[in-house]
Amino acid sequence: MRYGLFSDIHGNLEALQAVTAALNEENVDIFWCLGDIVGYGANPNECLEQVWDTTSDVIAGNHDFAAVGKVDLTYFNRNAAEAALWTMQNLSRAGSSYLSNLPFVLRNGEVMAVHATPSEPGKWGYILSLSIAEMEFGALPADVTVCFVGHTHDPVIFYSDDEDYGVVPGMQCNLIPGLRYIINVGSVGQPRDGDPRAAYCVYDSDTSLVEIKRVVYDVDEAQKKIRKAGLPEFLATRLAFGQ
Ligand code: ZN
Repeated sequence: MRYGLFSDIHGNLEALQAVTAALNEENVDIFWCLGDIVGYGANPNECLEQVWDTTSDVIAGNHDFAAVGKVDLTYFNRNAAEAALWTMQNLSRAGSSYLSNLPFVLRNGEVMAVHATPSEPGKWGYILSLSIAEMEFGALPADVTVCFVGHTHDPVIFYSDDEDYGVVPGMQCNLIPGLRYIINVGSVGQPRDGDPRAAYCVYDSDTSLVEIKRVVYDVDEAQKKIRKAGLPEFLATRLAFGQ
């Protein structure tokens, strides 16, 4: 089974179109969307429609719930809160009711996905370090060997053999039987690892190969739309730097 995994689209239609096209060339069997379809970017409704065309396997991100009043905006920084209010005002009725009903977890046998953390997917904690990943490995269901996450916008592959923990160097690896993995698939629409290209992940459960890939998209156009919508300028400028 080939999984196509993508997360943190954030209303960036140009990035989502590039990732969808790239995944369509990967002979993917199952598409998993790990949340934050909306928030920050200027095309929340168009991104929702694109996701609906692609998959029904979708989980909630904190920005999805913020846009429908299910996350308190006091937890957001000023730009994020401003963008969440804009999204709330511009979201279609269908989009709003869809986002309100998203689940927290996707599961298929030993493969699982959450937006934030496996321990408390609705608390929106961030797996920003190996020590946090170590605690999260302890929270994985016993029969899960690989858990995909988003939320930090920073792609990374953590592994655990229950005594030792580490980060796999690079952006691809063959999963080793007996080890467990927490894999951040990176962000489609707002990368923050210094690489402005859109990120996505392909996992082939037959060959056990995981690859986090990047694709260029029309950053200029996404920036123009953010400015035209009157969203905070920083949300446009950061796209060019992947920050
Ligand atoms: Zn996000």
